[in-house]
Amino acid sequence: MKALLDVHTHSIASGHAYGTITEMAKAASEIGLKLLGITEHAKGIPGTCDNFYFTNLGALPREMFGVEMMFGSEINIIDYEGHLSLEQKFINCLDIRIAGMHRFCYRHGNIEQNTSAVIGAIKNPDIDIISHPDDGRTPLDYERVCRAAKEFDVLLEINNSSLKAKNRINVFQNCCRMLEICKKIDHPIIMNSDAHFMNAIANFEQCQKVLEAVDFPDRLVINYDLDRFKEFIADNRAKKG
Ligand SMILES: [Zn+2]
Ligand SMILES: [Zn+2]
Repeated sequence: MKALLDVHTHSIASGHAYGTITEMAKAASEIGLKLLGITEHAKGIPGTCDNFYFTNLGALPREMFGVEMMFGSEINIIDYEGHLSLEQKFINCLDIRIAGMHRFCYRHGNIEQNTSAVIGAIKNPDIDIISHPDDGRTPLDYERVCRAAKEFDVLLEINNSSLKAKNRINVFQNCCRMLEICKKIDHPIIMNSDAHFMNAIANFEQCQKVLEAVDFPDRLVINYDLDRFKEFIADNRAKKG
Protein backbone atom coordinates (compact mmCIF):
# COMPACT_ATOMS: atom_id res chain seq x y z
CA MET A 1 0.00 0.00 0.00
CA LYS A 2 1.09 3.56 -0.57
CA ALA A 3 2.07 5.72 2.38
CA LEU A 4 0.28 9.06 2.15
CA LEU A 5 1.98 10.91 4.96
CA ASP A 6 5.34 11.49 6.56
CA VAL A 7 5.18 13.74 9.60
CA HIS A 8 8.63 13.59 11.15
CA THR A 9 11.19 15.50 9.06
CA HIS A 10 13.64 18.34 9.66
CA SER A 11 14.53 21.48 7.70
CA ILE A 12 17.62 23.69 7.95
CA ALA A 13 16.03 25.25 11.04
CA SER A 14 17.06 22.12 12.99
CA GLY A 15 20.74 22.97 12.52
CA HIS A 16 21.91 19.65 11.07
CA ALA A 17 19.41 19.21 8.23
CA TYR A 18 19.82 20.77 4.84
CA GLY A 19 16.60 21.56 2.99
CA THR A 20 14.37 24.60 3.24
CA ILE A 21 10.66 24.23 3.92
CA THR A 22 9.94 25.15 0.30
CA GLU A 23 12.37 22.56 -1.04
CA MET A 24 10.94 19.90 1.26
CA ALA A 25 7.33 20.64 0.28
CA LYS A 26 8.24 20.61 -3.42
CA ALA A 27 10.02 17.27 -3.07
CA ALA A 28 7.03 15.80 -1.22
CA SER A 29 4.74 17.02 -3.98
CA GLU A 30 6.91 15.45 -6.67
CA ILE A 31 6.59 12.01 -5.09
CA GLY A 32 2.84 12.36 -4.60
CA LEU A 33 2.81 12.63 -0.79
CA LYS A 34 -0.46 14.03 0.58
CA LEU A 35 0.72 15.31 3.97
CA LEU A 36 4.16 16.43 5.10
CA GLY A 37 5.05 17.25 8.69
CA ILE A 38 8.17 19.28 9.43
CA THR A 39 9.14 18.89 13.07
CA GLU A 40 12.22 20.86 14.10
CA HIS A 41 14.23 19.83 17.11
CA ALA A 42 13.44 21.69 20.29
CA LYS A 43 16.26 23.31 22.23
CA GLY A 44 18.94 20.99 23.54
CA ILE A 45 20.11 19.77 20.14
CA PRO A 46 23.16 21.82 19.03
CA GLY A 47 22.35 24.47 16.44
CA THR A 48 18.58 24.06 16.37
CA CYS A 49 16.17 26.99 16.25
CA ASP A 50 15.31 29.15 19.22
CA ASN A 51 11.95 28.55 20.91
CA PHE A 52 10.83 31.82 19.37
CA TYR A 53 10.82 30.08 15.96
CA PHE A 54 7.75 28.12 17.02
CA THR A 55 5.76 31.21 17.93
CA ASN A 56 5.60 32.34 14.31
CA LEU A 57 4.57 29.08 12.63
CA GLY A 58 1.24 30.76 11.87
CA ALA A 59 3.10 32.63 9.10
CA LEU A 60 3.44 29.42 7.09
CA PRO A 61 0.84 28.15 4.61
CA ARG A 62 -0.74 24.77 5.45
CA GLU A 63 -0.72 23.78 1.81
CA MET A 64 2.29 24.04 -0.49
CA PHE A 65 2.59 22.59 -4.01
CA GLY A 66 -0.66 20.69 -3.37
CA VAL A 67 0.72 19.02 -0.23
CA GLU A 68 -0.98 19.52 3.11
CA MET A 69 1.60 20.84 5.58
CA MET A 70 1.87 20.49 9.35
CA PHE A 71 4.54 22.19 11.42
CA GLY A 72 5.69 20.97 14.78
CA SER A 73 8.58 19.88 16.89
CA GLU A 74 10.47 16.80 17.99
CA ILE A 75 10.77 17.69 21.65
CA ASN A 76 13.39 16.15 23.91
CA ILE A 77 12.50 13.90 26.82
CA ILE A 78 14.92 15.15 29.44
CA ASP A 79 14.52 12.95 32.53
CA TYR A 80 13.17 9.69 33.93
CA GLU A 81 9.78 11.25 34.64
CA GLY A 82 9.35 12.14 30.97
CA HIS A 83 9.55 15.90 31.32
CA LEU A 84 10.00 17.79 28.04
CA SER A 85 12.46 20.41 26.82
CA LEU A 86 9.80 22.82 25.52
CA GLU A 87 7.50 24.97 27.62
CA GLN A 88 3.75 24.79 27.28
CA LYS A 89 3.34 28.18 25.60
CA PHE A 90 5.56 27.00 22.72
CA ILE A 91 3.98 23.55 22.54
CA ASN A 92 0.64 25.29 22.04
CA CYS A 93 1.98 26.76 18.75
CA LEU A 94 2.61 23.32 17.20
CA ASP A 95 0.46 21.28 14.79
CA ILE A 96 2.35 18.08 15.65
CA ARG A 97 4.04 17.23 18.94
CA ILE A 98 6.62 14.45 18.91
CA ALA A 99 8.66 13.45 21.97
CA GLY A 100 11.90 11.51 21.81
CA MET A 101 15.09 10.67 23.66
CA HIS A 102 18.36 12.08 22.32
CA ARG A 103 21.79 11.65 23.81
CA PHE A 104 22.44 15.40 24.10
CA CYS A 105 19.52 15.86 26.43
CA TYR A 106 18.89 12.48 28.06
CA ARG A 107 21.17 10.27 30.10
CA HIS A 108 20.63 6.62 29.11
CA GLY A 109 19.15 4.89 32.12
CA ASN A 110 18.28 1.30 32.97
CA ILE A 111 15.18 -0.36 31.59
CA GLU A 112 13.00 0.84 34.47
CA GLN A 113 14.19 4.46 34.18
CA ASN A 114 13.85 4.61 30.39
CA THR A 115 10.40 3.01 30.46
CA SER A 116 9.29 5.51 33.08
CA ALA A 117 10.67 8.37 30.94
CA VAL A 118 8.80 7.27 27.82
CA ILE A 119 5.57 6.49 29.65
CA GLY A 120 5.79 9.90 31.35
CA ALA A 121 5.89 11.52 27.89
CA ILE A 122 3.07 9.28 26.64
CA LYS A 123 0.89 10.39 29.55
CA ASN A 124 1.56 14.03 28.71
CA PRO A 125 -1.68 15.12 27.03
CA ASP A 126 0.22 17.23 24.50
CA ILE A 127 2.19 14.42 22.91
CA ASP A 128 1.02 12.75 19.68
CA ILE A 129 3.97 10.54 18.72
CA ILE A 130 7.02 8.97 20.41
CA SER A 131 9.98 9.11 18.03
CA HIS A 132 12.31 6.15 17.54
CA PRO A 133 11.67 4.18 20.77
CA ASP A 134 14.01 1.58 19.33
CA ASP A 135 17.60 2.10 20.47
CA GLY A 136 19.07 -0.74 22.51
CA ARG A 137 21.27 1.75 24.33
CA THR A 138 18.09 2.95 26.04
CA PRO A 139 16.33 -0.36 26.68
CA LEU A 140 12.55 -0.27 27.16
CA ASP A 141 9.88 -2.57 28.51
CA TYR A 142 7.89 -2.69 25.26
CA GLU A 143 4.89 -4.43 26.77
CA ARG A 144 4.34 -1.49 29.15
CA VAL A 145 5.22 1.19 26.58
CA CYS A 146 2.81 -0.18 23.96
CA ARG A 147 -0.03 -0.60 26.44
CA ALA A 148 0.46 2.97 27.69
CA ALA A 149 0.49 4.26 24.09
CA LYS A 150 -2.84 2.57 23.48
CA GLU A 151 -4.35 3.83 26.73
CA PHE A 152 -3.27 7.45 26.15
CA ASP A 153 -3.77 7.59 22.35
CA VAL A 154 -0.16 8.06 21.34
CA LEU A 155 1.45 6.64 18.20
CA LEU A 156 4.75 4.77 18.44
CA GLU A 157 7.05 5.41 15.53
CA ILE A 158 8.95 3.08 13.23
CA ASN A 159 11.74 5.44 12.14
CA ASN A 160 13.42 4.75 8.81
CA SER A 161 16.55 6.76 9.66
CA SER A 162 16.96 5.03 13.01
CA LEU A 163 16.85 1.64 11.28
CA LYS A 164 19.85 2.80 9.22
CA ALA A 165 21.77 4.51 12.05
CA LYS A 166 25.08 2.83 12.76
CA ASN A 167 25.48 4.14 16.30
CA ARG A 168 22.18 2.70 17.57
CA ILE A 169 21.90 -0.93 18.56
CA ASN A 170 19.29 -3.69 18.06
CA VAL A 171 16.95 -1.25 16.32
CA PHE A 172 15.46 -3.85 13.98
CA GLN A 173 14.85 -6.36 16.79
CA ASN A 174 13.35 -3.71 19.05
CA CYS A 175 11.02 -2.50 16.28
CA CYS A 176 9.92 -6.10 15.69
CA ARG A 177 9.17 -6.52 19.38
CA MET A 178 7.19 -3.27 19.46
CA LEU A 179 5.19 -4.23 16.37
CA GLU A 180 4.42 -7.72 17.69
CA ILE A 181 2.86 -6.16 20.79
CA CYS A 182 0.98 -3.44 18.85
CA LYS A 183 -0.43 -6.16 16.62
CA LYS A 184 -1.52 -8.17 19.66
CA ILE A 185 -3.20 -5.23 21.40
CA ASP A 186 -4.55 -3.78 18.13
CA HIS A 187 -2.89 -0.37 18.33
CA PRO A 188 -1.76 1.51 15.19
CA ILE A 189 1.81 2.62 14.52
CA ILE A 190 3.28 5.33 12.33
CA MET A 191 6.19 5.13 9.91
CA ASN A 192 8.30 8.28 9.67
CA SER A 193 11.35 9.02 7.57
CA ASP A 194 13.02 11.50 9.98
CA ALA A 195 14.39 13.00 6.73
CA HIS A 196 17.17 15.55 7.11
CA PHE A 197 17.23 16.18 3.33
CA MET A 198 14.68 16.06 0.55
CA ASN A 199 15.78 12.72 -0.88
CA ALA A 200 14.79 10.87 2.30
CA ILE A 201 11.20 12.16 2.51
CA ALA A 202 8.71 9.27 2.69
CA ASN A 203 11.44 6.71 2.17
CA PHE A 204 10.11 3.84 4.26
CA GLU A 205 12.22 1.07 2.79
CA GLN A 206 13.68 -0.02 6.13
CA CYS A 207 10.35 0.33 7.93
CA GLN A 208 8.75 -1.98 5.37
CA LYS A 209 11.30 -4.68 6.16
CA VAL A 210 10.25 -4.66 9.82
CA LEU A 211 6.56 -4.67 8.96
CA GLU A 212 7.09 -7.66 6.69
CA ALA A 213 9.22 -9.48 9.26
CA VAL A 214 6.32 -9.55 11.73
CA ASP A 215 3.55 -9.73 9.16
CA PHE A 216 2.10 -6.48 10.50
CA PRO A 217 -1.44 -5.74 9.26
CA ASP A 218 -1.85 -2.76 6.88
CA ARG A 219 -4.94 -1.59 8.76
CA LEU A 220 -2.73 -0.74 11.76
CA VAL A 221 -0.32 1.43 9.73
CA ILE A 222 -1.74 4.94 10.03
CA ASN A 223 0.28 6.22 7.02
CA TYR A 224 -2.15 4.39 4.72
CA ASP A 225 -5.21 6.26 6.01
CA LEU A 226 -4.97 10.06 5.77
CA ASP A 227 -8.40 10.71 7.29
CA ARG A 228 -7.67 8.49 10.26
CA PHE A 229 -4.41 10.34 10.95
CA LYS A 230 -6.03 13.77 10.65
CA GLU A 231 -8.83 12.65 12.96
CA PHE A 232 -6.27 11.40 15.44
CA ILE A 233 -4.52 14.79 15.50
CA ALA A 234 -7.79 16.72 15.60
CA ASP A 235 -9.00 14.59 18.53
CA ASN A 236 -5.74 15.15 20.36
CA ARG A 237 -5.93 18.91 19.83
CA ALA A 238 -9.60 19.01 20.90
CA LYS A 239 -8.91 16.98 24.04
CA LYS A 240 -5.62 18.53 24.90
CA GLY A 241 -5.69 22.10 23.61
ZN1 LIG B 1 15.12 12.06 16.94
ZN1 LIG C 1 14.06 13.70 14.06
